[in-house]
Amino acid sequence: MQASSNIMWSSGRSEALLEAGLPVPIDIRPVRGAKRLRLRFDEASGTLKLTCPMRTSRRAALAWALDQRQWIEVQLARALPGEPFEAGAVIPVEGVETLIAWCERESRTPRLTNGELRCGGPQGGLARRVDAFLKRQAIETMSREVAEFASAAGAAAKSVSVGDAGTRWGSCSSQGRIRLSWRLILAPPQVRRYVVAHEVAHLKHLNHGADFKALEARLFGPGLAEAKAALRDVGPRLRRLGRGR
Ligand SMILES: [Zn+2]
Repeated sequence: MQASSNIMWSSGRSEALLEAGLPVPIDIRPVRGAKRLRLRFDEASGTLKLTCPMRTSRRAALAWALDQRQWIEVQLARALPGEPFEAGAVIPVEGVETLIAWCERESRTPRLTNGELRCGGPQGGLARRVDAFLKRQAIETMSREVAEFASAAGAAAKSVSVGDAGTRWGSCSSQGRIRLSWRLILAPPQVRRYVVAHEVAHLKHLNHGADFKALEARLFGPGLAEAKAALRDVGPRLRRLGRGR
């Protein structure tokens, strides 16, 4: 089985095409003997390689690939250089491009002032202090927003925490524990608020059904589709921020 798959690989002629909804071209190959769909990101060519059973239509394969979008973004973010938090770097705090202005004599605790993130103390550990500052901003801001949306929804979250969980921007457990990516503090406010409203709506409905969608739309207000699209646009960069090159 393995051998015949390999022959298919080398003899099969197909090319990577850029399809709507995917950030990079995708090469879809039906493979004899394949039992399921498999996706990998080929760093060398910068393309997605999808193999699927012979009976799978291109349309179905593509729809499946679109469902893996968050996974794809994570792979892309890993392949592209990071944007470390360092002196002189410009990072999007709440979506606003902000200079990390380092001056040893200033306070160690970073603070936002006049469109700059001013940080003092020794240069070693600067990245860690910026990281801690952003996580603090993230939990403060999003805890407030969770409370605001939850009260509008007539619900209450059991807890709110921030983390950096793999592919997800947020999650809500059946016990009402909301977890959000701290990276959302780097996104424009409407993007962050969309994710928060989405997770708060899950306090009432643990699915993506019609009632859930109606509540999500009521909590967020107008511009939901735009915010969703904006998250797709900024997502890949959010995942690169604070990582080494
Ligand atoms: Zn959801």
